[in-house]
Amino acid sequence: MKKVGIIRCQQTEDLCPGSTDFKVAKEGSLAFQDTGAVEIIGFVSCGGCPGKRAVSRAKVLVERGAEAVVFASCISKGNPIGFACPHFEKMKEAIIKKIGPEIQIIEYTH
Ligand code: SF4
Repeated sequence: MKKVGIIRCQQTEDLCPGSTDFKVAKEGSLAFQDTGAVEIIGFVSCGGCPGKRAVSRAKVLVERGAEAVVFASCISKGNPIGFACPHFEKMKEAIIKKIGPEIQIIEYTH
């Protein structure tokens, strides 16, 4: 079973505890159809706008065994209020530069 670390939007924590992320990861559904069910080894927030702290957090997730770093849908799709992160692309780019291209990036959860 693939090990993943999930990064979520800190601004959305008041609205959503990430329940659907855990559900689809366990089921291997939606964003996890290709990987099958995954083990979540860490579930962290971006650290707040503009998301710079997500870079070091992604690195820690990889050090703790994550084989893929997953952006929760609150970041890339703006769930549940339709307000996607304006820093998503920059955050993703900086994370890939930090953790290297061999770590899979999954851009949403559901
Ligand atoms: S940087 Fe993006 S993901 Fe992080 S709190 Fe701000 S809007 Fe949310």
